[in-house]
Amino acid sequence: MKTNIQYISDKLKGLYPPEEIQSFIRLILEEVCHFSSTDFILHKNMILSPFEQEEIMQIVERLRLYEPIQYIFGHTWFYGNRFEVTPNVLIPRPETEELVEKIISDHRGKSGRLLDIGTGSGCIAISLALHLREMQVEGWDVSLDALTVARENARNLNAWVAFSVTDILNYDADEGISEQYDIWVSNPPYICRKEAAAMSENVIEYEPHTALFVEDHDPLLFYRVIGEAGLKQLVPGGFLYFEINALFGNECADLLNKIGYEKIEVIKDISKRDRFVIARKPLN
Ligand code: GLN
Repeated sequence: MKTNIQYISDKLKGLYPPEEIQSFIRLILEEVCHFSSTDFILHKNMILSPFEQEEIMQIVERLRLYEPIQYIFGHTWFYGNRFEVTPNVLIPRPETEELVEKIISDHRGKSGRLLDIGTGSGCIAISLALHLREMQVEGWDVSLDALTVARENARNLNAWVAFSVTDILNYDADEGISEQYDIWVSNPPYICRKEAAAMSENVIEYEPHTALFVEDHDPLLFYRVIGEAGLKQLVPGGFLYFEINALFGNECADLLNKIGYEKIEVIKDISKRDRFVIARKPLN
């Protein structure tokens, strides 16, 4: 056992901070050998099979190229559930769990129709469908490959979510029935291209850029398009819930105010950065 731990830490030394290497060691041994935290505390001795050793070596080689561990394992955890992830979807982030938590606490027990725009792995839509059992939940994404992952996640977790391929940037909000949704939620692409230089390699090299980036000259593009469409498609008194770039909290609130929303709130995440905006469509 010790030799395997030593092997992992030697191979990753200097490439990642020491705490991160420690956490990789635990995650790898849990994934490959089903080693629990208790086993760690007890320094359980374990003889690994050649197959397990080979698997560890392959994982470590991929980590050395900065591939995110979630893509290497093919899954991650979000709001208490395991979600499959592939490079076709953004890896769910912990701050997005805070958005899910807020929506659940605001709408517990209520019925209605909820739509997640740019659903990716489906982590928001599926978590909400599992906790707001009376809501009819839908998820849209421009990428069919992302929806394949989202549908598999919904199936694995026994959640009812209707997923469909829709490009919100080319969506005609005048078509179909108007004022049909009670809640729209979105974690759209919000990182400006010029911010990319400061981002870590494991994000830039591996995660889907369509899910991450907006053009520098129009960083609020998605909020404007979704906000405008929402005025037609949300019921009076319906809600928008957005995850945002911390740099644009006030701008995003001003924009939604200009478009015609009310009761606009900018909410901070656990790191005290502006991260969410909530707005309500007026009742009349
Ligand atoms: N929060 C993600 C990140 O920092 C970005 C998510 C997004 O663009 N919607 O990588």
